Amino acid sequence: MIELHNIRKAYNQGRSNEFWAVDGIDLTIEAGRATALTGPSGSGKTTLLTVVGALARPTEGRVRLQGRDVSGLPEPFLTEIRRHTFGFVFQQFNLIKGLSVLENVMLPAYPIGRPHRELRESAEVLLEQLRLGHRAEARVEWLSGGEAQRAAIARALINDPPVIIADEPTANLDTQLSREFLAIVEGLLERGKTLLLTSHDPLVYQSTTMDRVVALRDGRLI
Ligand code: ADP
Ligand code: MG
Repeated sequence: MIELHNIRKAYNQGRSNEFWAVDGIDLTIEAGRATALTGPSGSGKTTLLTVVGALARPTEGRVRLQGRDVSGLPEPFLTEIRRHTFGFVFQQFNLIKGLSVLENVMLPAYPIGRPHRELRESAEVLLEQLRLGHRAEARVEWLSGGEAQRAAIARALINDPPVIIADEPTANLDTQLSREFLAIVEGLLERGKTLLLTSHDPLVYQSTTMDRVVALRDGRLI
């Protein structure tokens, strides 16, 4: 469902410190499957995720989403596609401090303009499913690492996107919580979601939950 054609991404293009973080990647990410991008630190995993998730444009190459070329679309269209297609779980979770768990989960839905009450109910259901119902009113800075991650997952799911993108989702979790994360992923796959994540945690990329593991090195597939 997501096709990458010869994707290249440069930082500081044209300057003396020009660096090609992603350097010619062809990859098809299958719908309804879990794909893990693995590779050493600096191999281009995060950069590739941002390109797939339309958070950044490739310097060269094409991204096709359900057969549609999205690489050249103007920003407002890209924003719209991003909002309806992807849910993001960032490495540092990026929860907004000072707001409650519930408010954080509801945030990505505001631009869509759903009725507030219905939105609140959806957020509460997600928090229940992720065993965070009892923390809905807590400020996010009060959460444990595992709770913060589940809050970030709930937030990624609020707009019911078909594709979930997660960057090093278990980097800050112990073994038990990492296993729990994989159980959540299995639940999402059962619901037909597509998962793309990066990880250099063997517990994740060697797990049977992953349908496909793609290894990167120096911005290329190996
Ligand atoms: P990974 O997620 O595999 O650790 P990244 O995609 O974060 O790799 O980074 C790939 C390479 O690109 C690294 O060498 C990193 O230093 C460089 N890089 C990442 N972001 C930037 C940036 N904003 N400006 C310049 N270089 C960057
Ligand atoms: Mg990274």
